[in-house]
Amino acid sequence: MVKDQTKLTFYGGVNEIGGNKILLQDRDTKVFLDFGMSFTFGAEYFTSWLQPRGIRGLGDYFEFNLLPKISGVYSKEMLAYTNLPYAKPDVDGVFLSHAHFDHIAHIQFLDPNIPIFMGTGTKLLMESMEETGNLADYGEHIWNKFRTGHKIKIGNLTVEPIAVDHSIPAAYGFIIHTSEGPVVYTGDLRRHGPRKDLTENFIEKAKAVEPIAMICEGTRMAEKETRQNYSEPQVQELSNQIVAHTDKAVFTMHANRDIDRFRSFYEVGKENNRKLVITPKKAHLLTKLIADEHLNVPDPLKDDNIVVYYKKKKSGTYNEKDYFLWERKFMDKMVNCEYIHKNQLKIIMDLDFFQFAELVDIKPDAGSHLIHSMSEPFSEEDIADTVMHNWLNHFKLQFHQVHASGHMSKEQLVETVKEIQPKRAFAVHTENQQLFKTYCSCMQIIEQGKTYAVV
Ligand SMILES: [Zn+2]
Repeated sequence: MVKDQTKLTFYGGVNEIGGNKILLQDRDTKVFLDFGMSFTFGAEYFTSWLQPRGIRGLGDYFEFNLLPKISGVYSKEMLAYTNLPYAKPDVDGVFLSHAHFDHIAHIQFLDPNIPIFMGTGTKLLMESMEETGNLADYGEHIWNKFRTGHKIKIGNLTVEPIAVDHSIPAAYGFIIHTSEGPVVYTGDLRRHGPRKDLTENFIEKAKAVEPIAMICEGTRMAEKETRQNYSEPQVQELSNQIVAHTDKAVFTMHANRDIDRFRSFYEVGKENNRKLVITPKKAHLLTKLIADEHLNVPDPLKDDNIVVYYKKKKSGTYNEKDYFLWERKFMDKMVNCEYIHKNQLKIIMDLDFFQFAELVDIKPDAGSHLIHSMSEPFSEEDIADTVMHNWLNHFKLQFHQVHASGHMSKEQLVETVKEIQPKRAFAVHTENQQLFKTYCSCMQIIEQGKTYAVV
C-alpha cells in the first residue's frame, strides 16, 4: 500500500452483525465511523453474573483482546489499568450513524478530547438512555450535532451526513469526500420503512457522486430468509385486525426506541378507541424527542390517547417519593394494574419482557393477546423465548408475531450496491461477506483489524 493512500481499517462489524468500528485515514486525518459494541461482545468470557470490572477501565477488556489496542484513541482514565500507555488523541473525530448500541456504546472509552458528531435526534436518544438510568453512560465528550445538508470539514475530509430510514429515529448514512474521491458509508438502513423516501434520497446522492468506495451494511444477506418480514404499514394493518376483532386486552412487545413502531400502535389504538399504555421510560423518551421538530412525536402529557403505567412500589402503594425524579413527571397520566384489569378492552399496553411480572397483578382474561413486534429468536433454544412462551401459556395469552425489519432485504442490498456503483465495496454488519460478493463482484472481503486502500 502506498503511504499516502486513503485507507480503511475495520476494527469491528467484521463477519458479525453489529459492533461497527471503522477507521478512515486520509493522510494525516483520521476519523472513526461508528464506535459500537457487538451483540456477542465478550460472551466467551463474561455473562450476566460475571462482568468486566468497571473501575478497571479497559483493563479487563484488553486482557481478552475485546477492544483494539490502538494508541491515541482512549481516555487516560480508561487506560490506567492497562499496558497501553496514554497518548494524546490521534483521531480527529468520530461520526455516529445512529443511536443503536452496536454503533455507539464504546464511545464511553474514548478520549474526551476527540469530537463526536451525531444527528440531533441521536443525541436526544442518548440523553434519554442516560437520564432513565439504563446503565448507559457515554462519558463526557465534545458533542457536535448535524443534520442532512450539513458539510463537516475535518482535516482533509468533508463529511456529508444524509438521513436514512432505519428502526430508530435520526439514522444517517455518510458521503465522505476524501482526497482520492468520495467514500459512501450506509450505516444501517432499509427501503421499506415509513421514511423510505430518506433512504432513496441517500442512494440517489451517493450514486451521483460516483463513489470510489462504499461501506455497506449486510444484516439480511443470507442464503435463505426464514423469518416473516412485513413493511411498517403491514404491521399496523395486521395489528389493527387483531385489535379490531377482540374484546380482550392487547399487549405489545417492541424495541423501546423504535418510534415508527410506537406510531403504528398509537394509530391502531386511536382507530379502535383504545388508550396506548406506555412505560414512564417511554414517556420520558417521547418528551425528549419533542425537542426535535422533525420527528413529530405526540406529547404524552397532553395527548389523551396515551396513559402511563406505574408499578406498585414496595409499600404496596404509589407514593410519589418512591419513584425516580424523572418518573414522577408523568404521574398525572398514571394508570395501574387495577385500571388495566378493569379496562382490558380499552387498552393496548407496551409490555416489555422485563415487565412481565406485572401480568400477575393485571390478571388478564384468558384469550388476551400479545403482539410480539420484534425479531424472532435466533435459535430454537433461546432461553428468553422459552420463558416468554411459558408466561404466555400460563396466562393463556394468544401470541402473534408481527414485525418489520430495520434492515433491507438481500435483494435490496444487492440492488443498492448496483445502483450506487462504487468502484470497490466493503461489507460490514453481516455474517455473509462471501455470499454478498457472489452478487457484487466489487466486494472486497475484509478481515478484522486489517487495513485496506479505498481504491
Ligand atoms: Zn441499527
